[in-house]
Amino acid sequence: MAPSVSSRAGAPGASEAGPRGAGVDGCGRGISYLRIAVTDKCNFRCVYCMPAEGVPPRSHEEMLSAEEIARFVRIAAREGIASVRLTGGEPLVSHRIVPLIRELREIPGIEDISLTTNGALLPRMAGALKDAGLDRVNISLDTLDPVQFGAITRLGRVEQALAGIDAALSHGFHPVKVNCVVVRRLQQDVFGMARLSLERPVHVRFIEYMPIGSDEERGFRAADAGEGPAGELRPEAWDASDTVPSRELRERIDAEAAAAGMGPLEAAAEGGAPAGAGPARYWRFPDAAGTVGFISAMSNHFCASCNRMRLTADGAIRPCLFSDAEYRVFDALRAGDDDAVARIWRDAVSHKPREHEVIKGTERFMSQIGG
Ligand code: SAM
Ligand code: SF4
Repeated sequence: MAPSVSSRAGAPGASEAGPRGAGVDGCGRGISYLRIAVTDKCNFRCVYCMPAEGVPPRSHEEMLSAEEIARFVRIAAREGIASVRLTGGEPLVSHRIVPLIRELREIPGIEDISLTTNGALLPRMAGALKDAGLDRVNISLDTLDPVQFGAITRLGRVEQALAGIDAALSHGFHPVKVNCVVVRRLQQDVFGMARLSLERPVHVRFIEYMPIGSDEERGFRAADAGEGPAGELRPEAWDASDTVPSRELRERIDAEAAAAGMGPLEAAAEGGAPAGAGPARYWRFPDAAGTVGFISAMSNHFCASCNRMRLTADGAIRPCLFSDAEYRVFDALRAGDDDAVARIWRDAVSHKPREHEVIKGTERFMSQIGG
């Protein structure tokens, strides 16, 4: 069963509470950061992100065009958005990604454009992305073990992600961050991952696994039911117990560093964190070229300082990753009604939840929301 989307209409009258002012939500938080899923398609099928068969296919007409995304960003910039991250799905499988970045670069008020990718297409595209005006890239890499990488991504090879990291560095993207989602039952070699920061000037960030799209009633459990190839990692029973708290991870890395005769991680000095540090906390091995960061979305909520909104590939504004409440802006964008788009945006911003509750799962997969 395809996950359903619960949308709020953004109808007239829905925003009586109203925002406190442009760029400020109903709780007084400044809203300056927009994450956009430019597509929900992907050339990988990571076990914690989407089902083996991919997300249910949608027609071209049901998805926002590059022009509509740019139009949306123009309006959002007038409402206080200064920083945009392009994600998905895999943003580099979208043939319109380079012209889209070029167009976003021209929008007054947009100061920072970044992209999250699995890296596979970066060696081919890094030059064009840089020329178009992309500032920064994050590359996802959960393990250096080739067999485990294949099992996690189902379709990928570890050499692709590593070549993507090297392409990002050689094309002068700065900073280059490496995202590693840690899942308890996968038993990844996190010390090995942290060591990537020794020689390369990269920022390795460990992200706590989030049970997005793995609701017990829907999501993975339903989508992935049935026989899979022998040895396939089957996430249907995953839940919050697969989250490894950042503190535990850091202790594990320190213990392995000590066993290897290395000094422990030290808190990165003031100003030592990479640009766009967001909710991550950064550490560094003595004399390392890069840093090690931890994003504790599960064990340490950062709702009080959350400055972000999301736009899905099918045109819904999502104020909170963990809440299925969405504000459909697709029709207003397609109709070219900028006033209505701005109204729906303000409605969504003013209803951004103060904090999220215990996270049990969501209706949409991460690849559909734009992780
Ligand atoms: N395809 C791109 C990539 O993999 O980097 C961009 C989209 S992906 C959904 C964005 C980020 O979300 C990736 O770093 C991915 O590892 C992370 N992610 C996906 N599912 C997750 C989950 N259930 N818990 C935590 N992070 C997740
Ligand atoms: Fe694709 Fe990224 Fe999801 Fe992996 S995490 S399936 S690469 S969208």
